[in-house]
Amino acid sequence: VAQDIINNVKLKCCGIKVLYKNKQGITMCGIVGYIGFRDAYPILIQGLKRLEYRGYDSAGVALINNEGVMNVYKEKGKVSNLEALTSQRDISGQIGIAHTRWATHGEPSAINAHPHVSQSGRLALVHNGIIENYSNLKILLEKEGYTFKSSTDTEVLVQLIEYMQKKYDKSLENATIMALRMVVGAYAIAVIDKNCPDKIVVARKSSPLVIGIGADHKEFFIASDALPIVEYTKQMVYLNDNEVALLKIGKKIEINNLNYEDITPEVKEVNISLESLEKGGFEHFMLKEIYDQPRCMADCMRGRLLLNEKRIVLSTINMHRERLMKAERFIIVACGTSWHAGLIGKQLIEQWANIPVEVEYASEFRYRNPVISPDDVVIAISQSGETADTLAAFQLAKENKAMCFGIVNVVGSSIARASDTGIYIHVGPEIGVASTKAFTGQVTVLTLFALALGHERGTISKEEYESTIEELGNIPEKIKSVLAKDEEIKDIARSLTYAENALYMGRGFNYPVALEGALKLKEISYIHAEGYPAAEMKHGPIALIDENMPVVFVATHHQLYKKIISNIEEVKARNGRIIAVVTEGDEAVKEIAEATIEVPSTLASLAPLLSAIPLQLIAYHVAVEKGLNVDQPRNLAKSVTVE
Ligand code: GLU
Repeated sequence: VAQDIINNVKLKCCGIKVLYKNKQGITMCGIVGYIGFRDAYPILIQGLKRLEYRGYDSAGVALINNEGVMNVYKEKGKVSNLEALTSQRDISGQIGIAHTRWATHGEPSAINAHPHVSQSGRLALVHNGIIENYSNLKILLEKEGYTFKSSTDTEVLVQLIEYMQKKYDKSLENATIMALRMVVGAYAIAVIDKNCPDKIVVARKSSPLVIGIGADHKEFFIASDALPIVEYTKQMVYLNDNEVALLKIGKKIEINNLNYEDITPEVKEVNISLESLEKGGFEHFMLKEIYDQPRCMADCMRGRLLLNEKRIVLSTINMHRERLMKAERFIIVACGTSWHAGLIGKQLIEQWANIPVEVEYASEFRYRNPVISPDDVVIAISQSGETADTLAAFQLAKENKAMCFGIVNVVGSSIARASDTGIYIHVGPEIGVASTKAFTGQVTVLTLFALALGHERGTISKEEYESTIEELGNIPEKIKSVLAKDEEIKDIARSLTYAENALYMGRGFNYPVALEGALKLKEISYIHAEGYPAAEMKHGPIALIDENMPVVFVATHHQLYKKIISNIEEVKARNGRIIAVVTEGDEAVKEIAEATIEVPSTLASLAPLLSAIPLQLIAYHVAVEKGLNVDQPRNLAKSVTVE
């Protein structure tokens, strides 16, 4: 059943999501490995298929056969393409590693596919994560005579390990530790050495990695989650951050941390069904993705938000400083949820960078004669990077010589390729048709961009720049505390189950959040919902209010808080039912509302990152309560590649 859902979703979407239990890891590719007495290839391929929902830009496998020859096969696209490639090839060997990729650096192609092989051809490595300092390491290695075949961040790792192995005459495990001590970023890796076919070395930091132990240590399995392993063994070790494990046939696992200290492996007996594992223990992909958000935010800010230095580093600004500085106007083109993120982006860029921003529905923009000048920067926002209308709007911008700036999730997607520059949101594949983590990812990227641009232009004060950076660093934890209120939110959501209509109201930064909340409810619970700037209510929607009309207010403690209280009173006076998202400790709204959901206090500019979460959960629980298909709502597709 689970596989069916996955296949089904894959047909519909371009962006696919990730499912694993570990809540700290990075949401990208899948890695699998085997060493033992069985043929590795079938185990690896089956494992890749189980992980394919994590990404399917490309797939690859490296095997060492009984003559000590290492065969590496890589193919763009799905695992089935890899199978076709290997059908007439030597796939023998009892040791191997394999990978299904969700590209972060370098387009999806066979050459960028993992495993990556070291210069001498001796080592092969698979990696899940992002090596933040790869360009510095690459320069170092190039000075030492290393050349690079791919444009990934990963390739530096395998070369660096080989370099350490050769230069210091170290074992594979020690060379791996030495290399990883130089690495900044997130990784789960597996490395094999054709000169030592009796071992695999694995390591992790921030990305997940599970080791399965066969009877008497005669075989070992590794994977990004337990899915590819459960059918072979229940004895598992979940590697912790900064740990490197040596898996050697016939020997117990040896684990060291990056300070060369011995760590005693904690072997767990894992008794979980395949299906529950696929959704990481959650009932639906959407819920899993909602819960993914604290980690996604951390991934999205990784290497960009330097908390210690109170600085934001965006390569797009480093590389296109002049062009971005002289921008006279930004035009954001997007559809649906991405358009809502764009509305937040507009407020942020105007506030901090003092550049006018227009936000357009891509589908409208493309068919009128918009005035676009070569000094404009057109920002296209799209999760999949394939949204047909957004792409067409982008092309129009290109024809008019504006700078094309992409904010997408899927690396190498059409919009990414059509961009002059841009920022990936890096939240990992999203499967649920109703977008959740992509929205908060887009808002995060827009926040980083607006802050960095304002800083460059000198239009934001040092205090505001630094205090916002500091608070951004707190947001993942604050999202967690909103998620902890899920049971409470579920109860409140129940009261909406039989509603036929609903209104969502917000002001300032929370106005687009209200639009997004209404869209979520429409999309998955089929309740007619409208989002409005709260003060607009009196110009029409107020006529709809009676005792059957639920009104969801996003009323956190920000600049327009007092004003929104008046709007809430207006609804109350007409017997409307009020549900409100408020700041912790709120009293005024609590007194008037039927129900309130508290979110932690934060800066006004960052409020959407917290206030959006309860609205996602409300929509989710209403849909579940109504028995609807949350992950595949009727009439909707994940990636809208038609206009
Ligand atoms: N950063 C690596 C790449 O782009 C690994 C991505 C992944 O985790 O799939 O190739």
